[in-house]
Amino acid sequence: MSTIPACPKCASENTYPDGDLFICPDCAHEWSASAPAEEVEAEPVIKDANGNVLNAGDSATLVKDLKLKGGSGTLKAGTKIKNIRFVSGDHPIDCKIDGVSYLLKPEFLKKA
Ligand SMILES: [Zn+2]
Repeated sequence: MSTIPACPKCASENTYPDGDLFICPDCAHEWSASAPAEEVEAEPVIKDANGNVLNAGDSATLVKDLKLKGGSGTLKAGTKIKNIRFVSGDHPIDCKIDGVSYLLKPEFLKKA
């Protein structure tokens, strides 16, 4: 047995099921009967140059000189980075070095 939920849009109770959908005749809203499971955002596993898993808040050290875009200098190997954070994208490490934010690839870091 199943209870037909009221329309989430207009709260009408004249809703009826149609296959995998519920349909509201009052506002023509259709929605999926199987409530989408809460998408569990899989924590991306980010590993440093040695294969150690990095966690947000970790400290790390650069293992490689990194040229900055625009030729504005170089981040030197051995530079210490505190309190790393993760962002999405192909440079998932968000960190600050000397007060400047950088996005880095984890393979250039070594967990401190
Ligand atoms: Zn409705």
